[in-house]
Amino acid sequence: MSSHGTFCTVFDCMDGRTNDLVNAWCRTNFGVDHPDTITIAGCDGILISDAGERERAFKLARISAHHHGSKQAVVIGHSECAGHMVPNEQHKIDIEQATKLVAAPGIFEHVVGLFVDVRTGEIVEVCRI
Ligand SMILES: [Zn+2]
Repeated sequence: MSSHGTFCTVFDCMDGRTNDLVNAWCRTNFGVDHPDTITIAGCDGILISDAGERERAFKLARISAHHHGSKQAVVIGHSECAGHMVPNEQHKIDIEQATKLVAAPGIFEHVVGLFVDVRTGEIVEVCRI
C-alpha cells in the first residue's frame, strides 16, 4: 500500500453538480481515498466524438494509473448536461460507448460507466467492463 493513499480515476464533466456525488460514489464503491478527476465539458459525448480530447484524457489517465497506482476508472454522463445536450436515454448509450473506449487501451483493470441525475443526486450504473 502506498503511503500517499489509494486512487481511482474519474472521467467527469466539468459540471460542479456531479463532482461531489461521483467522488462519494468512488470512495464507497472502490474504497479509494482520492479520486483523480479528468474533466471534460460533456464528457460522455466528447470522449466518443473527439479523438484529440480522448488522447488528452488518456494522457492524464496514464499519469493517474502509473504514478498514483489507479486500477479503476469511472466514466460519467449526467442529466441537464450543457456540454452534451441529449436526452437521458441517449446519455446512457453514449456512456456505454465511452466506457468501452476508455477500457480499450488497458490502462485500468475495471472501468464503470455511471449516469448521474443532478436533480435527485441518484447515480445509476450503466455498464461495467
Ligand atoms: Zn455536463
